[in-house]
Amino acid sequence: MADSPPAAPRVLVAGSANLDFLTRVPHLPAPGETVLGPEYVTAPGGKGANQAVACARAGGAVAFLGALGPDPFAASLLASLRQSGVHDWTVRVPVPTGAAFISVSEAGENSITVASGANAHLTPEHLPGLRGLTHLALQLEVPLPTVGAYARAAKEAGLEVVLNAAPAAPLPADLLAAVDLLMVNEGELTALAGPGEPADQLAALSARGPHTVIVTLGARGAGAWHAGELLRVPGHPVRALDTTGAGDTFAGVLLAALSEGKSLGAALRRANVGAALACTRPGAQPSMPARAEIEAALGASEG
Ligand code: AMP
Repeated sequence: MADSPPAAPRVLVAGSANLDFLTRVPHLPAPGETVLGPEYVTAPGGKGANQAVACARAGGAVAFLGALGPDPFAASLLASLRQSGVHDWTVRVPVPTGAAFISVSEAGENSITVASGANAHLTPEHLPGLRGLTHLALQLEVPLPTVGAYARAAKEAGLEVVLNAAPAAPLPADLLAAVDLLMVNEGELTALAGPGEPADQLAALSARGPHTVIVTLGARGAGAWHAGELLRVPGHPVRALDTTGAGDTFAGVLLAALSEGKSLGAALRRANVGAALACTRPGAQPSMPARAEIEAALGASEG
């Protein structure tokens, strides 16, 4: 349970929620092959739900809008959101809840199949009123027309629109024009901007709409292009055990900080430390740090 009733949301994260099924296998199956693994574990996932949980743990007042099916998986995903203090703005659709089937080999390679299910049925009509919100956060695991419609509605209502362009996909010009802050990793940056120097790639994307473009750089931290200047945040050194969910943690912590009115530089430093802490523990949502832990690590790195 959350420690206290969550405050009225300032951030709305709209996107995917999946139940992840993880199993270890001796090797990844070839086409037509069956490989036996010992057992499986389930974990809540989906970029949207992950980012909402990371935001709430970091102290953000956040709601999650996503589509869930009429099955017990929906209940287990909601339990995880509620435990972290996320407001439940989910909708029910008559399609199974999204699921991801993840096999990890002894060599550490993985193979992931995502059944989008209910996530593919989140529509523009599902967007609720935006009064009281300061930020809308989107990713690309729900239909692109939905993402575009939400971004335009939020921009019109005066919210800051944050898009994590993951997984990489070509972005229509009118979507990019409605985005204030774009966040990508290195692969997504090159997919969107083409090859080049990172500063040039960031500036080229910014010229298409977003006033801020952030690139996450794994263990090397992050960079951002804002107001014609490049900001660099060096990596926060940790012993990384599992980087699953690092980008989602970065996005969620960043949203929490920005929605409290922190500067871009301060928000980037918090997001970078929060994401690094998430790398020290296994899993996505279970690894996401609480606000106090982020502040302790920030204090230690600055003191
Ligand atoms: P990525 O999606 O790999 O770019 O990672 C997202 C964010 O997670 C980075 O910007 C870092 O803040 C953090 N991160 C990822 N990998 C590491 C690592 N090995 N050590 C420290 N921080 C990391």
